Amino acid sequence: MVPRSLTACQTSDWQEELRAAYRNVDDLLAALALQPASVPDLDRNADFRLLVPRRFAALMTPGDPTDPLLRQVLPLAVERQSCPGFSHDPVGDNLAHLGDGVLRKYAGRALWMVTHACALHCRYCFRRHWRKPGHGSAAARGKAALARIAADPSITEVILSGGDPLMLDDAMLADLIERLGRIDHVKRLRLHTRLPIVLPSRVTGTLCELLASATPSTLIVIHANHAAELGEEAATALGRLTHAGLPLLSQSVLLHGVNDQAERLVALSERLCACGVLPYYLHQLDPVQGAAHFQVSDRHALDLLEVLRERLPGYLVPRLVREIPGARSKTPLTG
Ligand SMILES: *Cc1c(COP(=O)(O)O)cnc(C)c1O
Ligand code: SF4
Repeated sequence: MVPRSLTACQTSDWQEELRAAYRNVDDLLAALALQPASVPDLDRNADFRLLVPRRFAALMTPGDPTDPLLRQVLPLAVERQSCPGFSHDPVGDNLAHLGDGVLRKYAGRALWMVTHACALHCRYCFRRHWRKPGHGSAAARGKAALARIAADPSITEVILSGGDPLMLDDAMLADLIERLGRIDHVKRLRLHTRLPIVLPSRVTGTLCELLASATPSTLIVIHANHAAELGEEAATALGRLTHAGLPLLSQSVLLHGVNDQAERLVALSERLCACGVLPYYLHQLDPVQGAAHFQVSDRHALDLLEVLRERLPGYLVPRLVREIPGARSKTPLTG
């Protein structure tokens, strides 16, 4: 779903790119020279529909139905099977939701879902069933969310999430950041975003200036799962953010058939480092209905981590964690 703000006012390259993104399974397969018959389990009518920017698709290997980037975005019929333990609210977001898109789980931090929109639909998304906006206008919800944050002095860090917070246009983001900057107890601002990877043209000079000059000091956590996602354009976008002085961390999800091999995780950490990003979290999959085919066992996850520890400097080894509803922090996996 594209917010109205993206279709009104000014258009820019990234908004054009978003409009041109693949929304249809057959168009994407044709662009990759793949016969639909080579992907037998396709789902052309998935509720959580296919969405892939063209430049991201261009990073996939033509003719390879098992491409790790393709696997992350292609809707499959297997997603319709219900599996025990896999639910619509796998991480307890409903319980932590204070209202108006503000989640409160951990000390000092509030997570604010500022939009439901993303530039790419990841099949394993733990919020794939949380896509409907709440009541009232976006502006009214935004005001109410800010009031919640302003009323709670224990909140020292605000995490902008969604959806993807960079789906908001520059004017909306600037307004929101300015309002957060007026709340004294908010000392840090964090953005959880996949856009520098999946829609690198979003990282404009204006955006970099806006984030770098924000009053609460700002940090960006990108989301990437495979080294091939970090092509030249993503590298340039990340370089721009680094150059503007913004610290960059990354989070990845451990996904069967995408990155559940030691060489792939090593390559991902190395590539992130080359792009100025330090790995932060490697998440065990959140058990969201529709994503069971991506699951990796804890045993295998721990074995992979052991290899990463042997092969990489400590600062390139992500923290392997799982999110347990009700826990007071992300929980490290232990053997
Ligand atoms: C993951 C998460 C955070 C941030 O946790 P950190 O360990 O600080 O990265 C904050 N709020 C919610 C609701 C989260 O899911
Ligand atoms: S970018 Fe994040 S929020 Fe958006 S679909 Fe992917 S996992 Fe979900």
